[in-house]
Amino acid sequence: VITGGKREGSSPPDLVVVGSVALDDIHTPWEHRRSVLGGSATYAALAAAPFCRTGLVGVVGEDFPEEARVLLQERGVDTRGLESRPGRTFHWEGRYEANMEDRTTLCTELNVFADFQPELPPEYRDAPYVFLANIAPALQLQVLDQLPEASFVAADTMDLWIRTTADDLAAVLGRVDLLTLNESEARLLTGERSLRRAAARIRERGPGMVLVKKGESGSVLFAPDRILFIPAYPLEEVRDPTGAGDSFAGAMMGELASRRDRETEAVWRAAITGSSVASFAVEEFGAEYVGRLDREAIERRRAELLAMICV
Ligand code: AMP
Repeated sequence: VITGGKREGSSPPDLVVVGSVALDDIHTPWEHRRSVLGGSATYAALAAAPFCRTGLVGVVGEDFPEEARVLLQERGVDTRGLESRPGRTFHWEGRYEANMEDRTTLCTELNVFADFQPELPPEYRDAPYVFLANIAPALQLQVLDQLPEASFVAADTMDLWIRTTADDLAAVLGRVDLLTLNESEARLLTGERSLRRAAARIRERGPGMVLVKKGESGSVLFAPDRILFIPAYPLEEVRDPTGAGDSFAGAMMGELASRRDRETEAVWRAAITGSSVASFAVEEFGAEYVGRLDREAIERRRAELLAMICV
C-alpha cells in the first residue's frame, strides 16, 4: 500500500527537499550494483512523502529512467521542481569496507548538477519546512533564498563540502535550525574530538539543534535545553548502507512538517521515526525500497524500537 498518493495540484508542499538525484554504483564486500536509484534528495523525498506533501528540487539528465520518475510521482512526491536537462544524471560510486560503515568514494560526477541554477516552482515558495539534503552548500543557499516562508530548516552536509567550501557552509549554518552530520564530519568541522564539544561549537555558528549520526550506534540530538539519544534499530543484515542518513532526515522532517511542530521533544519523536525508516533503507540496494514502504510497516518498526528503550 502506498500511502503517499498523488498530491500534485496547486497546494504548496509542507516540505521542500533539495539535494542530489543520482544513479549510483555501489560496491560492498559481497555485491556490486550499477546504476541504482540514489541521491540524497531522492532518499529524503521518498522517506518524507508518506507523512506530508513533499516537493522535490533537483535536476536529472536524459539517462534518468522513466520508472524512477513514476516511482516518485506514485509516492506522492511533487516533482514540479525536478528539472530534466540534456546530459547525464549525477553519478556517485562508492565502496564499503567489511564493517559496512566505512566507505570510500571512488567517483563523483556532478554532470547536470554542475551548472544547475534552481528556480523553484511558484507553488513551492510558501513551504514552511525545508530540508537541504547533501549537495553543494551554494546550491542549498540558492534554494533557501527562494523560500521566504520557511519556518524550520534542516540541512545535511558531508566531508567534501567541509573541506572545499567552508565559507558557503558557514553561510548555511547561519540560516538553519537543525544540522545533521555524522560523527567524523562533526569532528572535522570543529576540530573537537568530543561530540558534546563539537555540537556546542556548531550550535554557536547558527543551528539551535545538531543531530550527530553514529551509524549502527544510533544518533544524538543536541538541543538548547537537552541532549537526547536516538537508537538505531539492530538489524541482522545490512545490504547497502547508502542513503541511511537521507532517509532518516527525510522521514523525520516529513513527520515534523505534518505536525507543524519544532519543539525538542517533537524532533526527538520524529527522529525515532527517521531511525526506523533508515533501518529499512539499508536492508536493500537503492532508494526504490524506501519508496515502497508503507506507514504500517514504519509504525510497526517504530513501536519495536521504542520497546527497546523503555521497559
Ligand atoms: P548517504 O549514504 O546518506 O551519505 O547518502 C548517499 C547518497 O548521497 C548517494 O545516493 C549519492 O548519490 C549521494 N551523494 C554522494 N556524494 C554526494 C555529493 N558530493 N553531493 C551530493 N550527493 C552525494
